[in-house]
Amino acid sequence: MRIAVVGAGIVGITSAFELAADGHEVTVFERCAGVASETSFANAGVIAPGYVTPWAAPGMASKVIKHLLSQHSPVRINAKLSPAVFSWLWKWWRASNRATFEQNRSRMQALAVFSRERLHTLTHELRLDFERSTGYLVLLRSGQDVAMAKPGLKVLAELGTKFRGLTADECRAVEPGLSAQTKLSGGIHLPDDEVANCRQFAHLLRGKAQEAGVKFRFQTDVLRIVPGATPEVVSQHVSADAATQPRRGNEPAEKDNPSTQPLQLGPVTQRFDAVLVCAAMGAPALLAPHGLRLPLLPVYGYSVTAPMRHVEAHPDLGPRSGVMDERYKVAITRLGTRLRVAGGAELGGSPHQHNAAALATLHKVLHDWYPGVAKLAQAQIWKGARPMLADGPPVLGPSGIAGVWLNLGHGSSGWALACGSARLLADMLSGRTPSIPIDGLSVDRLKR
Ligand SMILES: Cc1cc2nc3c(=O)[nH]c(=O)nc-3n(C[C@H](O)[C@H](O)[C@H](O)COP(=O)(O)OP(=O)(O)OC[C@H]3O[C@@H](n4cnc5c(N)ncnc54)[C@H](O)[C@@H]3O)c2cc1C
Repeated sequence: MRIAVVGAGIVGITSAFELAADGHEVTVFERCAGVASETSFANAGVIAPGYVTPWAAPGMASKVIKHLLSQHSPVRINAKLSPAVFSWLWKWWRASNRATFEQNRSRMQALAVFSRERLHTLTHELRLDFERSTGYLVLLRSGQDVAMAKPGLKVLAELGTKFRGLTADECRAVEPGLSAQTKLSGGIHLPDDEVANCRQFAHLLRGKAQEAGVKFRFQTDVLRIVPGATPEVVSQHVSADAATQPRRGNEPAEKDNPSTQPLQLGPVTQRFDAVLVCAAMGAPALLAPHGLRLPLLPVYGYSVTAPMRHVEAHPDLGPRSGVMDERYKVAITRLGTRLRVAGGAELGGSPHQHNAAALATLHKVLHDWYPGVAKLAQAQIWKGARPMLADGPPVLGPSGIAGVWLNLGHGSSGWALACGSARLLADMLSGRTPSIPIDGLSVDRLKR
């Protein structure tokens, strides 16, 4: 089949690769100048299937309200909320009942476990060499944090996740760089979970996809999709300035091979056998004209990435792998010789305006655990939009619009879910039975 993939974030790249591996003729359209330029650009990099859960959870609404009153709240709500945000919050609240939550959590975790296996297979078979480290430590500051973490341990055990509850001293043995000045009551160590550089992986897989024949159309905005048995993609080349503008980091834009980038001035229409939308927050504009209105909201978060001091002489000054401060929901991860601190959940607001209080929380948590380790004068500050569906799981499969398929809405776990989602989607598109059950992942659940 000739398949168009819209979006070259981690979900689009993994999908393009899997489809090409199945023998399809794939063209990827991406409005930015390179792969992983939007939400896949500088996420925390955590792959921890036991912690992949819906944000629509029992008791979450009251927790959010309580958090909003604290100075270093993990959640922030912009004063001017649009009707779309209210509608999303209503759907989110309705999906927060125990039965729906537990069903969605087990679907997401099964997908995350499968996804990690697929990531390992691809890494091994394609010999991909990217920044990775093993182990994930959840830090519990107080006795109350320890008590609140207990119900989650039952879920980890049910999922078959390897984990161990640790004392404060044991946590410091696992992560010797943790400051002794900050109170720590205990932790949960997950030795098989990991941290890996999502953007680096996307770049490497893009190379492999290209070798497998995938064509990339960067700086190309998909204006609309015309559904049908052979759907059309109407796209337009955008200027280099416009294409790099959405990036919110300070790394240079990727230069694409000019021979694969013909300069097109007006809109161009191309026909395919199927169009796969992996456009995250760009998807609603493409789907709504065909009557599909997804409850998809950008939930903004931040990361600060900086080189570590004295890393050659003292590799244990920073994190060995990844830690999560459960109180503030802030992750600190190691990416080669750099560390990244990431977190915050902001509803409403703009993708370009940084919230000083949210960044102050990241700096506080970093300072609490690894004071003075990061060269913050050289830090890259980034804001990304988690593409969050109200009930939690992503949508995979046919959209109900003729010829149009979906792989989107991976929220706060897109990196952890990408490789598995892509493989399942490729199986579905090829008419094969997917490797794991996919019920509850189709778009039908959102149409009710
Ligand atoms: C602060 C933060 C920390 C995070 N930490 C983690 C973590 O530790 N682990 C984890 O698993 N996940 C994490 N995530 C979530 C993860 O980053 C996302 O779920 C994931 O990147 C989403 O990937 P995507 O490919 O769907 O979206 P994107 O990466 O945003 O890709 C979508 C692409 O589609 C393109 N596009 C959109 N519309 C069009 C159009 N009309 N034409 C052409 N191109 C178009 C966009 O330019 C974009 O490149 C985090 C997110 C944030 C914000």
